[in-house]
Amino acid sequence: MTETASAPTAPLRARAEIDLAALRANVRTLRALAPGAQLMAVVKSEAYGHGAVRCARAAVEAGAGWLGTATPEEALALRRAGLPGRIMCWLWTPGGPWREAVEADIDVSVSGMWALAEVTAAARAAGVPARVQLKADTGLGRNGCQPGEDWAELVAEALRAEADGVLRITGLWSHFACADEPGHPSIAAQLALFREMVGYAERQGVRPEVRHIANSPATLTLPDSHFDLVRTGIALYGISPSPELGTSADFGLRPVMTLSANLALVKHVPGGHGVSYGHHYVTSGRTTLGLVPLGYADGIPRHASGNGPVLVGGKWRTVAGRIAMDQFVVDLGGDEPPVGAEAVLFGPGDRGEPTAEDWAQAAGTIAYEIVTRIGTRVPRVYVNEQQDGVIR
Ligand SMILES: *Cc1c(COP(=O)(O)O)cnc(C)c1O
Repeated sequence: MTETASAPTAPLRARAEIDLAALRANVRTLRALAPGAQLMAVVKSEAYGHGAVRCARAAVEAGAGWLGTATPEEALALRRAGLPGRIMCWLWTPGGPWREAVEADIDVSVSGMWALAEVTAAARAAGVPARVQLKADTGLGRNGCQPGEDWAELVAEALRAEADGVLRITGLWSHFACADEPGHPSIAAQLALFREMVGYAERQGVRPEVRHIANSPATLTLPDSHFDLVRTGIALYGISPSPELGTSADFGLRPVMTLSANLALVKHVPGGHGVSYGHHYVTSGRTTLGLVPLGYADGIPRHASGNGPVLVGGKWRTVAGRIAMDQFVVDLGGDEPPVGAEAVLFGPGDRGEPTAEDWAQAAGTIAYEIVTRIGTRVPRVYVNEQQDGVIR
């Protein structure tokens, strides 16, 4: 991913502007919502498309005590970039870089006996104790250890390794299935089972530093779920986990990414003119068309063909016809903005532009996917990188 510190001198075809002041403000807002808990900034998948290293640094500056990633490679990259403090990763497969993670002082998640065996072998080889967090499946039905005999076996074996000095059990944790649907019966059931599985492990002698289950929706709406740590991803980037929960503004969050491009062509066409592959759009009369130089290779969802909103010259326009690999067209209805005029696909919304949520609705998906899938061909341009008043 191209990371540009500030506005570049050469004009760019398109850009994803990343407002790090908004990200820092979101961290402070989320910490205030969960005052008894530490905050983990989840920066997996390039910080949901915003750029992992810069977002991680900004989050730590604003008070995030932990960083979270899915893969160990992502966690190791943060450490290599010099990020201090606690970093946790949870998506392991056999043969993963356990030893590198142990040596880089990364907290690793273990959901089953195979992973415990690999991490203890790596810690013995490294001669350094591993930091291990045991993950319970309290109902998501994805990763995590099943309750009952499986959990008892995992806890017992982890305690034996801890007694041998090979590892330290730093955390007990789980993940919600339906936290974005307040009142869903699975929420209370998962919380009860989490308490039970944590209680069991503690009675066996586990002394975790952190117990945690809350993602963004739980952090925003379920104080009972905060425990010692909350793991926020999407809310950090200023996006509401779901429109049913409320808008980002309802939670005092500000969207961090603004995606825009410069029109590559503006031209007059007659009525009856087919537009883009398949001619799914045909002009209804003489009009002007604007060419937006972004396509599905850049992560613009092809499912938003004929639907996605774009702000051009102060007006909302709609994608005309199919979104192609590198470009799409908007019908400008006779307006004649200059070639090079800015087309804003989404941003915070306060300049009248659409939001990532609007694109999610246009494409039949969630806003998480809209920002995360913005491709590496789109340079990220960071603004407000310096903390207010602090020159570093
Ligand atoms: C991605 C992820 C999160 C963050 O989820 P958000 O809904 O974006 O806050 C938290 N925990 C785990 C295990 C995850 O995979």
